Amino acid sequence: MKEHAGLYIHIPFCQQKCEYCDFYSITRLEQVEEFVEALLAEIVLRAGEFRERVFQTVFFGGGTPSLLNEEQLERIWRALQEHFRIDPGGEFSIESNPGTLTREKLTHFRALGFNRLSMGVQSFNPAELRFLGRIHSVEEVRENFRNAREAGFRNINLDLMTAFPGLTPESFRYSLEEALALSPEHLSCYTLIFEPGTVFYKKMQSGELNPLGEDEEAAYYELAQEILEARGYCQYEVSNFARGRERVCRHNLVYWEHRPYLGLGPSAHSFYRNVRRGNKRSLTIYIKSLQKGQLPLDFREELSPEQLMFEYTFLSLRLREGLDTGAFRQRFGLDFREKYRSAIHKLAENELVEWSDRHLRLSAKGWLVADTVASYF
Ligand code: SF4
Repeated sequence: MKEHAGLYIHIPFCQQKCEYCDFYSITRLEQVEEFVEALLAEIVLRAGEFRERVFQTVFFGGGTPSLLNEEQLERIWRALQEHFRIDPGGEFSIESNPGTLTREKLTHFRALGFNRLSMGVQSFNPAELRFLGRIHSVEEVRENFRNAREAGFRNINLDLMTAFPGLTPESFRYSLEEALALSPEHLSCYTLIFEPGTVFYKKMQSGELNPLGEDEEAAYYELAQEILEARGYCQYEVSNFARGRERVCRHNLVYWEHRPYLGLGPSAHSFYRNVRRGNKRSLTIYIKSLQKGQLPLDFREELSPEQLMFEYTFLSLRLREGLDTGAFRQRFGLDFREKYRSAIHKLAENELVEWSDRHLRLSAKGWLVADTVASYF
């Protein structure tokens, strides 16, 4: 049986740019139609490459896919079905901004076949939503969550943000409790990162905003773990919690398990047969290239065995069960303990990892600094 593969569609539009956001998205909504035409052309051009694959997951991300109208989404969905082999029992996700949803839209998403909805909530505190530059209100989150349930969504994720300036343990606890009151199947808790090029980054440089210290960040992280695990959510990845194994995000697992994926749309990345490639991070270039019948390729990189092992290792360590040394041997023909003897030794010395049978995984202390673990290898 072929290994799982994921299909990602990047919709590069947002109604308003959030000041912390580093994803490629623009607010020139008048270009949506041109983008859809270009995307349809890219689908046709990339179809041959993945002819033998069956995609078990499809993920519409961005940007704000929920900004597209019914007819545009339908054309894209139809083209994907026509040109790719998609497992009818797969996981089909769409990201949304609660400020762009309506009952009709949600019903249409379900009718198209989406069976997983992700909502960018970030906070249940109106002042914090304003600070983050979000366009939605707390009431829109609650209302659209109800609408999504009525439309038939049984698998809903809420994104929450943590460790941003001005957040307090009380308000974060409140947001977590309000999120839990809705009983979503999945929660993602992301720490704010000051990414170069964002407004927040400039504000940090000018001294207007100060990032939280490591200890404070860790305290929020532990608070989320404590509250969510007590309420039956399993932390299966550094930032992700699911109510039961069957509710983990199968699409994101494709990335963490270093499996093949195809990314379409500006700035989207693909990984297949040990090659990573990325599309141009510019809608103008994306559209112009495809109008000329050319792929909007930004880079193409063949990963060496060393790079493949390194990526496989640090991605596996993001998962709760950690790295399976048997699977490592099967994939690379090498003994993991031998290959990374010195890195494992240093990590163990710092109490950042632990062994469980044939798995190496992050310890509770290791999870708090998961992003720095790669630097040991
Ligand atoms: S809505 Fe999402 S993708 Fe768009 S700017 Fe805000 S965080 Fe970024």
